[in-house]
Amino acid sequence: MNKLIYHFGPWNNEGNATMKDILGGKGANLAEMSNLGLPIPPGFTIATTMCAHYYSNGSKLTADFEKQLLAAIKELEQNTGKIFGSVTNPLLVSVRSGAKISMPGMMDTILNLGINDEIADALAKITNNPRFAYDNYRRFIEIYGSVVLEIPSYVFEGIYDNYKINHNISNDSETSPEILKLIINDYKKLVHKFTGQELETDLNQQLKKAIEAVLKSWMSSRAIHYRKINNINKQDVLGTAVNVQSMVFGNKGNNSATGVIFTRSPANGEKKIFGEFLVNAQGEDVVSGIRTPNPILANDKKDGTSMQELMPKNYEELLLICAKLEGHYGDMQDIEFTIEEGSLYILQTRNAKRSAMAAVKIAVDMVNEGILTKEEALLRIDPESLNQLLHTGIDYSTKPEIIASGLAASPGAATGIVVFSPYDAEELSHHHKVILVRNDTSPEDIKGMHVAKGIITARGGMTSHAAVVARGMGRPCVCGVKGLTVNEKDKYFTTSDGQKIKQGDIITLDGSTGKIIVGMVKLIEPQFSPEFETILQWADSIKRLQIRANAETAIDAKMAIKFGAVGIGLCRTEHMFFDANKIPLVREMIIAQDYEHRMKAIDKLKPLQTADFKELFSILGTMPFNIRLLDPPLHEFLPTLEQDKENLAKILEVPKSVIDHRLHVLHETNPMLGHRGCRLGISYPEIYNMQVEAILQAMWEVYSKQAIRSNLELMIPLISDFRELEIIKNMIIKTINELEEKYSHKFNIKIGTMIELPRAAITADKIAPLVDYFSFGTNDLTQTTFGISRDDTGSFLGDYMEQKIFTHDPFVSIDQEAVGFLVNTAIKKGKAANDALTFGVCGEHAGDPESIDFFHNAGLDYVSCSPFRVPIARVAAARSKIRSSLYSRS
Ligand code: ADP
Ligand code: MG
Ligand code: MG
Repeated sequence: MNKLIYHFGPWNNEGNATMKDILGGKGANLAEMSNLGLPIPPGFTIATTMCAHYYSNGSKLTADFEKQLLAAIKELEQNTGKIFGSVTNPLLVSVRSGAKISMPGMMDTILNLGINDEIADALAKITNNPRFAYDNYRRFIEIYGSVVLEIPSYVFEGIYDNYKINHNISNDSETSPEILKLIINDYKKLVHKFTGQELETDLNQQLKKAIEAVLKSWMSSRAIHYRKINNINKQDVLGTAVNVQSMVFGNKGNNSATGVIFTRSPANGEKKIFGEFLVNAQGEDVVSGIRTPNPILANDKKDGTSMQELMPKNYEELLLICAKLEGHYGDMQDIEFTIEEGSLYILQTRNAKRSAMAAVKIAVDMVNEGILTKEEALLRIDPESLNQLLHTGIDYSTKPEIIASGLAASPGAATGIVVFSPYDAEELSHHHKVILVRNDTSPEDIKGMHVAKGIITARGGMTSHAAVVARGMGRPCVCGVKGLTVNEKDKYFTTSDGQKIKQGDIITLDGSTGKIIVGMVKLIEPQFSPEFETILQWADSIKRLQIRANAETAIDAKMAIKFGAVGIGLCRTEHMFFDANKIPLVREMIIAQDYEHRMKAIDKLKPLQTADFKELFSILGTMPFNIRLLDPPLHEFLPTLEQDKENLAKILEVPKSVIDHRLHVLHETNPMLGHRGCRLGISYPEIYNMQVEAILQAMWEVYSKQAIRSNLELMIPLISDFRELEIIKNMIIKTINELEEKYSHKFNIKIGTMIELPRAAITADKIAPLVDYFSFGTNDLTQTTFGISRDDTGSFLGDYMEQKIFTHDPFVSIDQEAVGFLVNTAIKKGKAANDALTFGVCGEHAGDPESIDFFHNAGLDYVSCSPFRVPIARVAAARSKIRSSLYSRS
């Protein structure tokens, strides 16, 4: 018989933290905590393998499993001294999902199972606490009804809310047993109405159906969607485990409670516990946002509502457990607990989700505390998440109009139009930046939250669903906004002082301060925290790859250097032409009907180019500066407006019909594969010559005025054959020689080429002797290897991902199998033909952590990415180095 069930708890504990594959995260950690001697209500875990059995058995439980289940319940009864279905000493259990990788709030949990009319009455008598007994029963029907019977939970909530309104009940725990009984009656009627059947009274049936519902929730669309957006891979998803655990009750009176605690601040990483709890409450009450919870730590005001003040003994006990668990796991923990009549129980611990700011601070603090090494700290940080730290905050000196404020649940600022439903969010996000405003969020809102730039909820605390999910996604979020009334149906909200904001109005939220502002606001650049600087320095001291940036403006170049770039790996000269004052000249140059007219345009363009280059040379100092000669797909520059064409005709001294004719001749069916790159240099050598002259003149001026000896790298794009390179190189060298003679000065210049066409990669041995370096243009290399135009993937990429032809977008992460093969081939052949050759990459992939891993292993010298991604690339490069040395040691 296949072992499908593992016990945990003080009497029989069969698991530990290393068994996440079999027991899932929650089950493995419950067993581990039991091993540590912590107060864990006993229970058992149904192994993750059951999930697969279940699905392969036509979504039915197997007989073998049912036998093991009965035996496990027997054992639990013996251990707890309570009996499932007994009217004198009933055992109630929770049925909890728990996959290997935590998916907070994504899957289902059923509480208080093992109850029916008879047992509820009995429980009321035994405990002498009818409110407690019927509260359990009410909660059970509500959860069982929604999870197992699939009755929407808002229907239950509607009934409950009506009673609360009619009887003036403001707090759940004030509902009297009499009213609870009426609610239970209504709930049962509702179940009958929806299912055509009475509520299940057979407890074994309840248990089996609950287990099946949890197994089914694994394949629910929201769980699938969660795995998709969190990139949880196939090999990591074994299915969910199911934990059946004896209940402890936080709803037994005023010395009972339930709560959530983080061992450090999940928002900013401060080393101070952070948590929330509710007296006389159960399970999801804290996170659901139905009641706004109380703090665990007493605040400065000492208003007597904190756990520290109300339950000091349990508070101290909890603090010790926090320290113990954090030390044991070597990471910040997120812990769920319940207090039943003064006794503390721990129900869950896991490595806590945290904002990027917190992740960085905690990693650095833990190195300083001796818990982690620098390398381990770097491996803890998801480079992609650092994006959050590189973006903006709000400039409050402009005195923006703050209309409300709430909890700063997830940092960062966002501006957009207000929407009130996840559907509107999805719909409108195609053309707008949207801010999703809700009373509270639930897992159904995930897709809407994902497309939103920011999230606001009227209710809920720092551990509410909205806050946790937003932090995970890196969306700014403000929760628990006092006085905010959200009318989701009529699509508006009002603030405490009566401001009304409708769907479509523009607002800004600041998830770092909790402020909500009407309209657009001036944003400010991010400030790096000292811990972030520390992490980046550690990364630099470890990584092998150099990180450069792609930049062609002074602003970008300065930003790149501030973010730690050690040079420019790609300056696209055609981008410098997009300025309003240059574009007409570029058009003139391209469309000119003869050499003489082209030279006229070139002569006007040259001083402008020189000025641009001068500015960049002086910003860069002696850092390498890689300038790519003109590589314009022509269509980006040709005029389309009649007015522009007429102007051009005047300048070129031809009738407009000639311009129309030239445009007709220049028209290309596929400009990305047309007259661009070095092909332009072959046809019109005067263009490249002008550029080289402008560059050298700038270099000379910066040298003679500022004494800067620049390091220029001149790059020739879109080579497919070494003969193209030979011709252009000779031409460039000739110009350089002439200018060196003219200035009586020897410049530092390297000449390189892009490897961005398969033919260039394959014939790299012929190209290599002609140049000092290769720079891989992996955008074009991907386009031409796949034969897919990057700008036209939109119409089928979705289908390709869906049908698993692509596991990822090859323009986001490099396709290692083919594009990577070409890169490796070019490196191998290039090195063999020229051992001084150096290698870089300058496509979008250069800022993608997964691709960086590939480039590190391929042995490149540098990657060059957009300025904002430089810090991400620095950390990613260090992680790649750490991982590769870990593997090579073992
Ligand atoms: P999730 O994975 O969504 O966090 P859980 O299985 O942790 O779901 O259950 C949610 C909450 O239900 C827990 O935080 C806890 O408060 C409550 N709960 C679960 N099992 C028990 C139990 N045996 N006794 C008391 N409360 C429980
Ligand atoms: Mg939980
Ligand atoms: Mg290119």
